[in-house]
Amino acid sequence: MPVTSQPEQRVRVRAPGKLNVFFEVGDVQDDGYHDVASAYQAVSLYEDLWAEPARDFSVSVTGSVDLDAVPEDDRNLALRAARLVAAQIGHTGGVHLEIVKHVPVAGGMGGGSADAAAALVACDALWGAELGTVQLQRLASRLGADVPFALMGGTAIGTGRGDQLSPALAKGRFDWVIVTANGGLSTPDVYGRLDALRQDHAFDIAPARTPEVEAGVLHALRAGDATALAHRVRNDLQAAALSLRPDLRATLELGESAGALAGIVSGSGPTTAFLTAGPEEALELQVTLTASGRTALHVHGPVRGAHVI
Ligand code: ATP
Repeated sequence: MPVTSQPEQRVRVRAPGKLNVFFEVGDVQDDGYHDVASAYQAVSLYEDLWAEPARDFSVSVTGSVDLDAVPEDDRNLALRAARLVAAQIGHTGGVHLEIVKHVPVAGGMGGGSADAAAALVACDALWGAELGTVQLQRLASRLGADVPFALMGGTAIGTGRGDQLSPALAKGRFDWVIVTANGGLSTPDVYGRLDALRQDHAFDIAPARTPEVEAGVLHALRAGDATALAHRVRNDLQAAALSLRPDLRATLELGESAGALAGIVSGSGPTTAFLTAGPEEALELQVTLTASGRTALHVHGPVRGAHVI
């Protein structure tokens, strides 16, 4: 792949965290992954990443969230993304990545995926690769199920592992209050618990079908109708996350009794997300949840995917 334009010296990219406003989990596939259908929304809680030329590949991570579980070696998803771009274009040098994290780690908001998407965009710009959306999306899906969405942003439907994306129309803005929780939840652990719960209750479960996002969710998003969306938010991982973290139940109950239109566990948790009627209602809810000793943030969506600043 030829290098086609003048490389930059230092590139800054911003990438959003995500909420799954609807998440249906189907059967385990032959590759060990579950078939899912997800309605993603990118929200205004961002990861910032700077990339600068270096002889080797390295990453440093700071930020406003607990960083204990973030690796700074080759396991870091952003570093793996950078290496993938280098391999794709035959770039012989390295890169130093500096990440400032605001998305809770292992929180179910796709922070690592956002870092990976940011690194793809940053290295593409830094090395003047001009890979284009299709190629970047292809690299993204090799890095993880949520990376393509962090690249695309906005509101989208994901099927397969969640990485087969199509953009969804969404009008206006949705105001959310998110509550972060101490300690993360491992996504494989949560899927494992879901499988165990389903096994225990095998007789209660309807015949498996290919997961799909309900039409009512798409209508509510298209209409920009938070009340209608609140009736339809759903997360099949929620029961499993609550079984691993029973303390989240009290958070959901408090948020819903304090004015949220709906409360939901975000992805595999343990972050919880509350949909509100608008910015003022969100602010009020944020105050109530903060007064209870929790860490609550007001975010809105949809916002752009990973982009150079
Ligand atoms: P998802 O909802 O996509 O499953 P998550 O939001 O629950 O993800 P992440 O914050 O993306 O979780 O991180 C999951 C794990 O990935 C972490 O525990 C960490 O060990 C590993 N990891 C690798 N690279 C990163 C990174 N850049 N930032 C955060 N975690 C990373």
